[in-house]
Amino acid sequence: MTVANSIPDLVVDRRGTVGFVPTMGAFHEGHLELMRQSKLACDFTVVSLFVNPTQFGKGEDFTKYPRDFARDAKMAESVGVDLMFAPSTAEMYPRELLSVVSVPEVGNRWEGEHRPGHFDGVATVVAKLFNIVRPDIAFFGRKDFQQCAVVGRMVRDLNFPIVLEIIPTKREPDGLAMSSRNAYLSQSEREVAPKLFATLEMCRESIRSGNSVSETIKNGTTILSGAGFRVDYLACVEDESLEPISVIEPNSTLICAARLGNTRLIDNLALD
Ligand code: AMP
Repeated sequence: MTVANSIPDLVVDRRGTVGFVPTMGAFHEGHLELMRQSKLACDFTVVSLFVNPTQFGKGEDFTKYPRDFARDAKMAESVGVDLMFAPSTAEMYPRELLSVVSVPEVGNRWEGEHRPGHFDGVATVVAKLFNIVRPDIAFFGRKDFQQCAVVGRMVRDLNFPIVLEIIPTKREPDGLAMSSRNAYLSQSEREVAPKLFATLEMCRESIRSGNSVSETIKNGTTILSGAGFRVDYLACVEDESLEPISVIEPNSTLICAARLGNTRLIDNLALD
């Protein structure tokens, strides 16, 4: 595996298809699964590792975000990644950024409300990385459901010549969605954390068995609060617009963000 820290050093083999997995590092099985899928589908796989400062809000965890380059490089190499692009902040943002990619509506709801500016940061860095790497296929995890919707809309609106592949969420045996941020959980919080997914499953069953979406959301929120979560949102949404829906329809998903202590967890579950 080659490591490139600068854009001029990034030598992509374009004789076949190029797969791309953008990440912020602190790899777990979820990241590795994206890399494996890229390896399966493409001739050359590029992984970027960049903890993007512009997608973190004031007071968020940018400085304490887990970073272990040597471990990440070993893990990426073990699944056969061809090229790792690990730029510095100065390499990605050499001057004040005047141009910003914004995906309002899809990006302003839910996460966007609780993390203002987050998706401008995400869409802009993903657009930059797409232009730097110029992949044929880019791989994203369904774990970050709204991120998939924002990037999907950006690709369609701006005609990026890139196919997006959305990979199912990798979970711990107890159901907790794998996340680099799970490392922040104390032992007692870690024991409570799987209740987030369990509650989404409970909500799905409740809605499927005919209970109203609003009653189900109310009950789910009460259950999560009772377990010690502070719920930012729990909602049933249409998959592309992320608009809330009140009756079950095709292409709808339950989404949730909740805090346990200082750790913010997100998860989602398809309703259909
Ligand atoms: P991150 O490093 O957190 O920015 O994540 C990089 C990519 O990995 C994103 O597309 C995430 O959605 C994806 N990802 C993170 N956690 C998981 C997971 N548990 N299962 C599948 N994909 C994931």
